[in-house]
Amino acid sequence: MSGYDAAKTEKIGVWWDMNDCPIPEGYDARRVRPSIERAFKERGYSGPVSITAYADQTQTPSHVLRGLSSSGVAVAHTRSGYTCSVMHRDMVEWRGQNPPPGTIMIISDQVNGDFSWDLARLQQRTRYGLFLAYSKKQCNDYLLVYFANCRWEKLLEEGGAPPVVVAGELSSAAMFYCKSCNFDCQSLKKFRNHLSSYKHGMEDAITPPVTKFLFATKSWARNYPASPEHATSKIHVLWDMNDCPIPEGYDARQVRPSIEMAFEEIGYSGPVSITAYADQTQTPVHHLLALSSTGVDFAHTLPWVHYSRMITDFEIWTRVNPAPASVMIISDEVASSKSRSKIICLKLQKFNYNCFLAYSVRPSETPLLVTSAEWLWESLLAVSETRRHILHKCSESERVVASTGMFCCKLCFCDCKSLDAFNKHLSNKEHRKEEHRMLAHTQSFRRSLRQFKISKYHDQARCPPKRMRKAPRKGFLPRPLRFTRR
Ligand SMILES: [Zn+2]
Ligand SMILES: [Zn+2]
Repeated sequence: MSGYDAAKTEKIGVWWDMNDCPIPEGYDARRVRPSIERAFKERGYSGPVSITAYADQTQTPSHVLRGLSSSGVAVAHTRSGYTCSVMHRDMVEWRGQNPPPGTIMIISDQVNGDFSWDLARLQQRTRYGLFLAYSKKQCNDYLLVYFANCRWEKLLEEGGAPPVVVAGELSSAAMFYCKSCNFDCQSLKKFRNHLSSYKHGMEDAITPPVTKFLFATKSWARNYPASPEHATSKIHVLWDMNDCPIPEGYDARQVRPSIEMAFEEIGYSGPVSITAYADQTQTPVHHLLALSSTGVDFAHTLPWVHYSRMITDFEIWTRVNPAPASVMIISDEVASSKSRSKIICLKLQKFNYNCFLAYSVRPSETPLLVTSAEWLWESLLAVSETRRHILHKCSESERVVASTGMFCCKLCFCDCKSLDAFNKHLSNKEHRKEEHRMLAHTQSFRRSLRQFKISKYHDQARCPPKRMRKAPRKGFLPRPLRFTRR
């Protein structure tokens, strides 16, 4: 049974922002819980559901509060404007108390941005089945792996009739919380009294609200010991030679042993495969020979397909190498760019892969990828310099796999078994044609993008305005200049 299947009978936690996703006019509040439960049942989830409704509850009518509470929905009062960060904090706490398998659902219009970034990182470390619901603003930054993202109103429409409440049974489960004062009670009257009390008013007035989003994962350490299932599993290394080149005077044969030793030091001993990405016509032949002799594969790329090929290759690799396994990314761009690391991030949320990063410059912001270890490229390479005796042993063992170093042209998707065959391929007519075709395509894409932006600007500004069109005739622009820019 996969982790997600196991979650189907486990706990479901629901965090609901009532400001973003209110109960529609005339809708019976007691129907909210059965509607949510029904949505889960339809998808095969039968675990116990806990729901908490967040809002400035001084604004919520008593009959709604009573309806929610009587159907087992907990009610939380938050100061208006801070609901999202309180919900997020409570969700993180719940995750700590309820380890996976389990399922979570966020009902909010504010999942985009800080919330989804932090949740995407949380989900890489501990995987829960994730459901989203929204009213007006759908989460569309594609950082999260979720099972459904439904419209709130539609979810309610499909819901059933109010539940038959056995007196005293469900209402005992539903609590009222004041998140400003850490106050809780089980009676609506007490809750109402609290919200209108001097003490609550004072707390609201003197305690500054949590204005900043509290990230749960920003302070996570970067080095974690290997878990038993990852310690001996495969490790695949994607090495961006443009961002992290071989330093001047460094013996290229030491790259593989350095990487392997860095893994060994933190407890990983699985077989390591390495692919080096670059315009290989620019790589010195002695580097190609040295790396290839240690079993490093080469991928020939050009700038405009460099990262896309690395990421596509990673996806293909995951298809034939199911988790548990590890991936190492050696690249400044993939480590720091949200858009470049998005696809890898999705895979890490979905499967039990482990991730390592190396970069020549530390990313200025916390990477989207949750890693088990990170290295500065140069200090990683220096590992073998200080431990040459072990390096010698590693290199010996590497010779066994020396012939596995493959050369692949990522423009034509052509594999070559030897450097000679690879060089021949890179200079042959077919390859050159492919290179020209790709270049022409990129240029035409840039031209049409520019054209598109110009016409969009004209649409917005309703231009070109008459004044500008007349300008050259009036002599505002010197004549030769009109032809200097295309
Ligand atoms: Zn209070
Ligand atoms: Zn080619």
